[in-house]
Amino acid sequence: MRFDTRLVHSGQRSTPGSGDIVPPVHIATTYDRFAQDPPRLFYSRGENPTREALEECLAALEDSPYCAVFSSGQAAATAALSLLSPGQRLVSSHDIYGGTYALFESLARYGIRVDYVDSTDPAELRQALVADTAMVWVETPSNPLLELTDLAEAAELARERGAVLVVDNTFASPALQRPLDLGADVSLYSTTKFIAGHADVLGGALVCRDADLHRRFVEHRTVTGGVPGGLDCYMVHRGVKTLSLRVARQTATAQALADALCASTAVCEVKYPGLRAHPQHHLVGAQMSGPGSMVSFRYLGDPEKLMARTELFACAVSLGGVRSLIECPALMTHRPVPRATRIAAGITDDLIRLSVGIEDPADLIEDLQCALEGDR
Ligand SMILES: *Cc1c(COP(=O)(O)O)cnc(C)c1O
Repeated sequence: MRFDTRLVHSGQRSTPGSGDIVPPVHIATTYDRFAQDPPRLFYSRGENPTREALEECLAALEDSPYCAVFSSGQAAATAALSLLSPGQRLVSSHDIYGGTYALFESLARYGIRVDYVDSTDPAELRQALVADTAMVWVETPSNPLLELTDLAEAAELARERGAVLVVDNTFASPALQRPLDLGADVSLYSTTKFIAGHADVLGGALVCRDADLHRRFVEHRTVTGGVPGGLDCYMVHRGVKTLSLRVARQTATAQALADALCASTAVCEVKYPGLRAHPQHHLVGAQMSGPGSMVSFRYLGDPEKLMARTELFACAVSLGGVRSLIECPALMTHRPVPRATRIAAGITDDLIRLSVGIEDPADLIEDLQCALEGDR
């Protein structure tokens, strides 16, 4: 089966004899031991058939045998970080999701050091991978600057060092980028975003090809309890079926919006991997099948007023849904990052981030253009 067919068919097991073409939602928390032969399902924190169906689908999307899903992207990240022991070091891209940064800050308490590097520069990454580095964490495209890291190169460097490479693939989604094929050990998702796609369910996932890593993620999930319920898993599984269609439409519109922004005199810099001027534009063809639907730019007027003026772009955090969103990282998603760190990383106060939805492209362009001109 090819990717788009897997989206619709993988993990779609129905109850025998029912003829359902959609898998049932299992919401029981516990299972009758004597009704099973042999007993396999024990307690829903450990086993749940609806959850397993979703895991089968997300694993298939990366040609991988294993996936563990979680109650949120943050729960998935916490399970990935549980691989680290006191005295070890984590090397991370400097431009990452604000919540991931907050999570990394909590690691000092466990004796784990975190160093931030510009992972778009392989020389800087190589230099940072000193002896006690046990994990490399890369987000590409990054949030909110949309920088790209060469994943094959990062995988090579991590392998030489014996470190686990975790790639937060939330922004690209498996429709555009498959980190495990490029040599990463773990693909991390906030399924809340593109995978579920409708801004109505939280979830996370860790996809890997190593049985031992998978076992450790599942054990961590079972003991700490970051499991998604059956209904949530069903909603993510329902949403993912249209992933390719949504992402194709969102990407085409994002490209058109990026071009319109480049032509606007109210904007001084547009960050979008689909633009020829983007510093890592060459990586789009090499490791992604499209530049995606997140666009950032620097606005010359007042960000608060701009966000209040858009009518179709709701002023809200999160991304990847069918409805378009606008936000200002310095005021919203990246507020927890200290201002000096933020500015040094390029997340300036005038930066605006768009998550492009599936509305009519002409309506979105009109809405944004009107809002941009509002200050003059
Ligand atoms: C949203 C997000 C997360 C966290 O996921 P939640 O589902 O909100 O817990 C992690 N990484 C990236 C890139 C995200 O966009």
